[in-house]
Amino acid sequence: MSDENKSIHEFDFSLICEYFSGMERQGPGSPEVTVKALSFIDNLTEKSRIADIGCGTGGQTIVMAKNAPGTITGVDLFPDFIKQLENNAVKHHLGDRIKGITASMDNLPFQEEEFDLIWSEGAIYNIGFERGLNEWRKYLKPGGYIAVTEASWFTNERPSEIEEFWIDAYPEINTIPAKVTQLQNAGYIPVATFILPENCWTDHFYALQVQAQENFLKKHTGNKAAAELVANECREARLYSRFKEYYGYVFFIGKKI
Ligand code: SAH
Repeated sequence: MSDENKSIHEFDFSLICEYFSGMERQGPGSPEVTVKALSFIDNLTEKSRIADIGCGTGGQTIVMAKNAPGTITGVDLFPDFIKQLENNAVKHHLGDRIKGITASMDNLPFQEEEFDLIWSEGAIYNIGFERGLNEWRKYLKPGGYIAVTEASWFTNERPSEIEEFWIDAYPEINTIPAKVTQLQNAGYIPVATFILPENCWTDHFYALQVQAQENFLKKHTGNKAAAELVANECREARLYSRFKEYYGYVFFIGKKI
């Protein structure tokens, strides 16, 4: 299909997908943080079933498979990301423990009480933290865990510039105690929360984009949507470096009761 025949939505979708597809991660995080979050999960065995929702190309899925027993089902809306997840799994000799499914997180093809652990890094915002926690709970066995990262405020107040950016980007952003209350109200014991270190944004996310941006812009010279996408990512990185005391990603880990 030529670009002219695509709706703006499809066009943006495939551009976004292409922009992020060469990268190890599509959101802030790091292998160390995934391993740290896993250290709070105490129910896993070789028979365990794990879902990684909004897995992207599988940066964290591979780390999980290397550091926890059981089999992992990675789910993402983009078929290209799922293809890359599966290729990565084979490359790491984990093809028998990781499988990918293309599906939307608001309509998951899962059975009730199918999973011991539901994982989601940098992705639950697509349906909203509260909605995701409530809707996904039924897929967990009693005593199963949920572990998600979510954008959160670190303070009660913050400069209006960053407040306005986030209210526009993700109005559900809130303070850590407010999010913990939502986790508890959704029927989970709040087991742990911790703030992702700065390098999850800088070294593991924005720095990886710099080289990719150059190639991407070269390939799409003259394409306004591509230029806007890159400009947006750069703006986000600049905002992060100016306002990182006020917000960041937080791991929220809960146990279904
Ligand atoms: N977990 C990965 C990717 C985070 S980016 C990482 O941390 O690197 C968010 C991911 O959510 C993207 O891969 C995007 O394709 C996926 N996504 C967006 N909307 C979705 C939906 N409705 N259902 C499933 N996945 C979705």
